[in-house]
Amino acid sequence: MSLVVQKYGGSSLADADSIKRVARRIVDTRKAGNQVCVVVSAMGDTTDDLLELADAVSPAPPSRELDMLLTAGERMSMALVSMAIANLGDSARSFTGSQAGVITDDVHGKARIIDVTPGRIEEALGDGHIVIVAGFQGVSQGSNEITTLGRGGSDTTAVALAAALKADVCEIYTDVDGIFTADPRIVPTARKIDRITNEEMQEMAASGAKVLMLRCVEYARRFGLPIHVRSSFSHREGTWVVDPSSAPESEGASVEDPIIAGVAHDRSEAKITVVGVADSPGKAAQIFQAIAAQQINIDMIVQNVSALATGQTDVSFTLPKTDGQRAVQVLQAAREHIGFESLQYDDQVGKLSLVGSGMRSHPGVSATLFQALADNGINIEMISTSEIRVSVVTRDDQLDDAVRAVHTAFGLDDADGGAVVYGGSGR
Ligand code: ADP
Ligand code: ASP
Ligand code: MG
Repeated sequence: MSLVVQKYGGSSLADADSIKRVARRIVDTRKAGNQVCVVVSAMGDTTDDLLELADAVSPAPPSRELDMLLTAGERMSMALVSMAIANLGDSARSFTGSQAGVITDDVHGKARIIDVTPGRIEEALGDGHIVIVAGFQGVSQGSNEITTLGRGGSDTTAVALAAALKADVCEIYTDVDGIFTADPRIVPTARKIDRITNEEMQEMAASGAKVLMLRCVEYARRFGLPIHVRSSFSHREGTWVVDPSSAPESEGASVEDPIIAGVAHDRSEAKITVVGVADSPGKAAQIFQAIAAQQINIDMIVQNVSALATGQTDVSFTLPKTDGQRAVQVLQAAREHIGFESLQYDDQVGKLSLVGSGMRSHPGVSATLFQALADNGINIEMISTSEIRVSVVTRDDQLDDAVRAVHTAFGLDDADGGAVVYGGSGR
């Protein structure tokens, strides 16, 4: 008997009918002769609704209490899915992250999984039950407190459990037919990708393609676990995220492998510019030490050429919008120490990233990208690159046009325009 680990996202569990539909799929998988362990997210936009509710009672809620609140969303789902399965005559047991043995560090809101001890799950599976686990949550090893893993964290729960239970694959069920060459909500002509390397998917996820959480891809890569992303609304084959070295054609990339895997976009970042800072050794260190001391992750950095007359320069960087105000406050507090003229905070920016491992060996990718943007009157504010990615920052209101233009310029459009979005609000 093989063990199947499945994860159903919030868009697949939006209401009672959806929960009954998902329960039917789970029971069918069990009836096909598998042991089944399922990870569930909170229903629909529940997590966003809970965050708004928290904000309404307190502008800065204690992180411990926020995690207590948010984990309730996944607990509702796990119990309801179990009930729906019982109603179909099969038996299911639901478990919170803590009960399932998901052990994390103690960073509320973005805890990392440090161990998985799935004893209770193995026992329940052994007793013939279907197991339903609340995603996105765990218990901290040090403090025994309930933690959450960060937005989209149920994906990581699923992969961590699949690895701990030694499943052959982790199936991620969502509201589109798989991973596309761009977000189908923005590019209806996006093409479904049959197979993508975990390296490319890691860059796509890091660049904002929220179909998979970044840490889930990193985790799967570390454990050599394939992920199958597919729709819970259809029975189509989805996208396989695989380790290229374990794929059959591992003698280097196959000839048909495309140069570009896809275009990702991200609206979650803001840009801070430190204006009029001395162009001398140590200044960048002082700026970024102040930010790092707040545990804030930064993304792109650009330093302008200094003005000859003043010997001063501007330093711009991007960071999560959610950390923006904190970063501004800490830099203002360090203004005397660092010595700069002023700060600019801009949250009307968007980031486009072009990802593909073929970039390593094909020149001219950046030139084509920049030309596509120029042809559409889109100004580039910042640029950064990795070996297999080029990212640019644009105005927020030009980002969708930029994604469509670049998608077309690289010949990624599907002539049949086949991308279907089955559900979800895209939040
Ligand atoms: P779930 O509720 O199942 O976790 P998410 O909303 O987190 O679903 O992720 C699925 C969504 O990811 C899709 O509806 C789509 O809008 C978005 N998305 C972004 N980039 C891509 C991409 N390259 N391929 C497919 N979906 C993408
Ligand atoms: N419910 C959580 C969120 O909305 C976790 C998840 O969906 O994976 O981020
Ligand atoms: Mg998700």
